[in-house]
Amino acid sequence: MTDSRQCDVLIIGGGPGGTPAALALAAKGKRVILVEAGQGLGGTCLFEGCIPSKIFRETAARRRAAREMSAYGLMAKSDAPPPVDWNTVLARKEKILTMRSQAALAKARQIPGLEVIFGRARLTGPRQAVIETEDGALQVQFAKAIISTGSVPRALPIEGADLPGVLDSQGLVGLKEIPRSLTLIGGGPIGVEMAQIFSMLGTQVTLLEAAPRILGPADPVLAGLLQKRLEDDGITVLTGVGIEAIRQVEDELVVFLHHDGKGREVAAQRVAIAAGRVPNVEGLGLETTAIAHDAHGIKVNGHLETDEPGIFATGDVTGPPMFAHWATAQALAVAAHMLGMPAPFPKPEHNSAVIFSSPELGMAGLTEEAARAAGLDVAVAEYDYKVDARAQISLGGFGRLRIVHERASHRIVGIHALVEGASELMGEAALAVRLGLRLEDVAQAIHPHPTLTESFAFAARAALMQKGASGARPDGKN
Ligand SMILES: Cc1cc2nc3c(=O)[nH]c(=O)nc-3n(C[C@H](O)[C@H](O)[C@H](O)COP(=O)(O)OP(=O)(O)OC[C@H]3O[C@@H](n4cnc5c(N)ncnc54)[C@H](O)[C@@H]3O)c2cc1C
Repeated sequence: MTDSRQCDVLIIGGGPGGTPAALALAAKGKRVILVEAGQGLGGTCLFEGCIPSKIFRETAARRRAAREMSAYGLMAKSDAPPPVDWNTVLARKEKILTMRSQAALAKARQIPGLEVIFGRARLTGPRQAVIETEDGALQVQFAKAIISTGSVPRALPIEGADLPGVLDSQGLVGLKEIPRSLTLIGGGPIGVEMAQIFSMLGTQVTLLEAAPRILGPADPVLAGLLQKRLEDDGITVLTGVGIEAIRQVEDELVVFLHHDGKGREVAAQRVAIAAGRVPNVEGLGLETTAIAHDAHGIKVNGHLETDEPGIFATGDVTGPPMFAHWATAQALAVAAHMLGMPAPFPKPEHNSAVIFSSPELGMAGLTEEAARAAGLDVAVAEYDYKVDARAQISLGGFGRLRIVHERASHRIVGIHALVEGASELMGEAALAVRLGLRLEDVAQAIHPHPTLTESFAFAARAALMQKGASGARPDGKN
């Protein structure tokens, strides 16, 4: 006989878009069931995305830094990069993943009213679902639900995409050995991060992008500087390519493509496709409800409620932007909304993100292009990290800061930084954008020296001086 349960809120998916909502709702006394189909709580971010890729990056970046030791006066026996013990890297990855997933589960289990069930959920109607677990099926009646089933790698409809040895991002983070050569298809954040990681680990890397430049939605000036850095580091970057097929030729995978009007072949031991991600709605039983979805994901209104009243959706399954912190911001907003607490829902123009390239590319708010497209009259305050004390000290004197602001009011609408350490600058950047701070606010805030965050004040002051502005806010509030 099938077991059954009732709850106030059913949450499908234990990633960054599901778990925080479950914790917040249960902490306030709701009876919550959180269902997760994977190996533990954490989602793509923990098991295949943010965390494993950054663990690999840490090893890769330290290996690269070892090459520069003598520049700091540290005389190692040789400047040759140290050999990599990949098994140690994989063991370290497993340890961190297990620790984080277990900690999340322990935290969830401490909250009465929150039941975590490992299994696959499928809606069977507007207020009911079935969960397939190892022990059999479980029927659930719910008052409300949140769908947070994430996304899956986009499959490319090209010949050979399914050959053994052709990987997606999940395959890349699961590699049991470092490939000697790798062709990466897709110059988005995942493709660029992985290209640099494996290049720093000693792999010969080619990066292929269909668009005229890598990192399409990022600030074009910074993306251009980063592309040059990739090339200087020995990565072959081909943009504007059309992929025709992938074929196994002896012991190599050959990508047949056209570039600059000519046919070309790129051979490597491995090929990885990182052509974006698509919302995961397969087998969810949406057809038993009024929930609408298309290629961009589940359709939601301004409160992230689907077309089925009482059923909400958060995170990657609602389409871009696809970031862990964005999914969590949405999850917490929906939880607050369900609890009847006034909740500002996250706005894309306030989002921040980091591409963990080398150097890192951080972004908050709008690019110059996006601001103009939104009808804003903007100017850009710039700063070159070549002259920055902190960047020079850490041999990171490369990169640029760009503060996009309204020309007349000086209100900051976007901050974009390419510099090693940009990831830690984006908190201040996100706050400036979220609060609608002006150049004057940032210029007057006393930033500690020598730090990279000073760059915000330097750029703002230089722009105000150029404008002949007094440094007082145009609205008189100082
Ligand atoms: C290589 C890579 C690197 C990344 N790096 C970053 C980064 O540095 N920073 C960042 O912010 N983002 C990064 N991301 C993106 C980030 O991982 C996602 O945006 C984030 O995980 C989305 O959270 P989510 O909860 O919406 O979905 P997910 O994390 O995908 O979680 C969805 C969960 O739902 C479960 N599920 C699916 N269907 C069912 C079902 N029917 N029943 C029960 N459970 C189900 C899945 O098992 C999964 O655990 C990266 C992604 C990749 C692939």
